[in-house]
Amino acid sequence: MNDKNTLTRRSFLKSSGALGVVAGAATLLAACTTEQPDNEAIYTITVKSGATLTESNSTTGRYKYKKKCSSCGYESIFATTVNGKSVLDEFKCPRCGFLQKIEIVVST
Ligand SMILES: [Zn+2]
Repeated sequence: MNDKNTLTRRSFLKSSGALGVVAGAATLLAACTTEQPDNEAIYTITVKSGATLTESNSTTGRYKYKKKCSSCGYESIFATTVNGKSVLDEFKCPRCGFLQKIEIVVST
């Protein structure tokens, strides 16, 4: 009776070990497939100065920004839409007259 029990336990351990390996392989495979869409171009939109992002899409690179004065804190009412391009511009603040540089860097 005892011998039979030992045998059953042993074979159980063996099969559960094999199951573990199979499950591990399946997890690895699943991780690979889910990571594939991430390999598409992803845009990083960084505001260096003179703007605030109101909307940004890292997959398409499309974003909206508002002009912002670093001197007095003025922010434009309307946002400007840009499609995946960096912005190097300047504007004269209507509130304090400061010549504010706008610099937005888009990298992939
Ligand atoms: Zn200003």
